Amino acid sequence: MSSFVNAPVPKASQDRVAELQESLAEIRSRIQQACSPPHAPALVAVSKYKPASDILACYEDGQRDFGENYVQELEEKAQQLNLPGIKWHFIGTLQSNKAKVLALIPNLYAVQTVTSAKAATGLNKYLPAERSAPLNILLQVNTSGEDNKSGVPPLSPDSPSADVELTQLARHIIKECPRLHFQGLMTIGSLTESLSSAEKENEDFERLKQTRDLLQEALSKEFPADSGKWGLDGRLLLSMGMSSDFEAALKAGSDIVRVGTGIFDMQV
Ligand SMILES: *Cc1c(COP(=O)(O)O)cnc(C)c1O
Repeated sequence: MSSFVNAPVPKASQDRVAELQESLAEIRSRIQQACSPPHAPALVAVSKYKPASDILACYEDGQRDFGENYVQELEEKAQQLNLPGIKWHFIGTLQSNKAKVLALIPNLYAVQTVTSAKAATGLNKYLPAERSAPLNILLQVNTSGEDNKSGVPPLSPDSPSADVELTQLARHIIKECPRLHFQGLMTIGSLTESLSSAEKENEDFERLKQTRDLLQEALSKEFPADSGKWGLDGRLLLSMGMSSDFEAALKAGSDIVRVGTGIFDMQV
């Protein structure tokens, strides 16, 4: 086995621990203020490029969900930080030839960036049989239409939802991939820095929400909402919102926010 398994995880300095606790507390309180109960969104701490010691400090402060963008970096960290209840979310660009390595990562909880049937099939094939729960899958939607963003096109009320790429992908996961659970949709949204960027972001959030509603409607005709085959009680989750816009995303109905710099790079 890997040499990481028994290597002790280095501790962050006391100052760094205090800094991380402070920014986590602030993000948590801003999340609470942006939504009303019973809505309890998940906070994924995006730890790409951050040392294992930072992640451990957040874990010891009660944080359980962590997001990583690179398969190899995630693999190393997940082996080093094989902690009870930790949940790893893969949020980077997924090449289907990396599906096997990804599927074997301990405590992998969700892959938020699936955009092809091939990647889904690969994950399903290589997930260890002894996993206690299926792997959660979110399909990445390119809500901003920018060429440099990956993701499948959103759904539109003007065209039928049943036979477009997104619905076909969802159907493929539900029907052909028993070790996967189709949980929802993810978007990165427009990152253009312009005067209207706040408006643009909201447009992207609204587009993802509309896509979710249309997809839910299409899926519930084929697969009863109570079949447990997708979403949560017939509802698909939305993963949208990052450090700069998570409050707007929560007001638009986000279920999962992905916050990196707001936790790890706060200027104190
Ligand atoms: C890096 C990253 C984030 C976190 O972004 P911040 O602006 O640092 O909060 C969220 N989602 C994805 C897909 C990312 O790559």
